[in-house]
Amino acid sequence: MTTDDLAFDQRHIWHPYTSITSPLPVYPVERAEGCELILSNGERLVDGMSSWWAAIHGYNHPQLNAAMKTQIDTMSHVMFGGITHAPAVNLCRKLVAMTPERLECVFLADSGSVAVEVAMKMALQYWRALGESRQQFLTFRNGYHGDTFGAMSVCDPENSMHSLWKGYLPDNLFAPAPQSRMDGEWDERDMVAFARLMAAHRNEIAAVILEPIVQGAGGMRMYHPEWLRRIRKMCDREGILLIADEIATGFGRTGKLFACEHADITPDILCLGKALTGGTMTLSATLTTRNIAETISNGEAGCFMHGPTFMGNPLACAVATASLSLLETGEWQHQVAAIETQLRAELSPAAQSPWVADVRVLGAIGVVETTHPVNMAALQRFFVEQGVWIRPFGKLIYLMPPYLIQPEQLRKLTQAVNDAVTQETFFIH
Ligand SMILES: *Cc1c(COP(=O)(O)O)cnc(C)c1O
Repeated sequence: MTTDDLAFDQRHIWHPYTSITSPLPVYPVERAEGCELILSNGERLVDGMSSWWAAIHGYNHPQLNAAMKTQIDTMSHVMFGGITHAPAVNLCRKLVAMTPERLECVFLADSGSVAVEVAMKMALQYWRALGESRQQFLTFRNGYHGDTFGAMSVCDPENSMHSLWKGYLPDNLFAPAPQSRMDGEWDERDMVAFARLMAAHRNEIAAVILEPIVQGAGGMRMYHPEWLRRIRKMCDREGILLIADEIATGFGRTGKLFACEHADITPDILCLGKALTGGTMTLSATLTTRNIAETISNGEAGCFMHGPTFMGNPLACAVATASLSLLETGEWQHQVAAIETQLRAELSPAAQSPWVADVRVLGAIGVVETTHPVNMAALQRFFVEQGVWIRPFGKLIYLMPPYLIQPEQLRKLTQAVNDAVTQETFFIH
């Protein structure tokens, strides 16, 4: 890329959550392979982000590439209304088989946020079909479920600036974020506020929506599995639906294929995305039970009211199927376990820094929470100089590398984090 290209980018192209008047620097990536991003100046960076949870098998994976190339020469896309095709059927067969038995009806959509919209819409249509007007969702603070309006209405009210959308966003119910940690003791008091909210609104709540075990973009918090068992029980008692948003946690990232397995619970609606295609194409899936699907279908609309243009995109389905086949070998379990062990050992020194508030690790996720917000631009530059790609935000420096990362590559990532957190200049204070 030329400096002219970069200037055009800065002037005309939005990047995620940036200002067009004072954008943060962007680094031109020319290609990516295995666990490395290669910049246009030839520098190679070890990838610590899996492109936001997605590229679990690394980049340029031969089997994923082959699946896409074969599919391109057959058909890249065809509408899903009135038509079906093997790539969608093959993928949904696998999804139904690998998720809990009760989840057997699949809705394919184009992104994680849309999967969440679909899940919320399913819950609303379900209650409507039963003749009850339940329109509220109960969730935790510090959650993240996407950037579209329905999804935003259940994101943490501060992080997603609900104040900006006052009067436009539906008013949902927010319980305090879980305090009992994944690696700590279960504290009975943790449940009180949540239980109280549910009891007070028992006849208005359509569904509880949550990210199981790991709250991702809303704070990278990891909470106790007992939470999920209790919520499952409470939902069952009240007949309230439970939506598990596993868009970030799904497909092995937390050490289980799905994070709900840590608590051995089955949600009524499950959202999948991000790693679904191994990070190659945008695709999501929302799965639900036959009972919910049938109830919706027997309601006044007579159908589920959603149908994106690119629904069931064959190219995305083909590569997703290839990605799931890679997972089916089971190799990810050893890889994620090895990453977890190494992250625990190599990130623990970070806790000694006066700038570090907490270090936590689960599966292939390592988080260093700092005491002060980081200077993004300076820290990003430092990481690039160290030959690693790590994108911190707020008070969070975190690693979630592709599963096939080698120990010496991971060491480079943890070393860079440990070096960074000792340096005052990277913190805004
Ligand atoms: C990223 C994410 C989403 C949104 O997915 P997009 O593909 O970015 O729309 C929703 N929920 C969770 C938990 C996520 O991590």
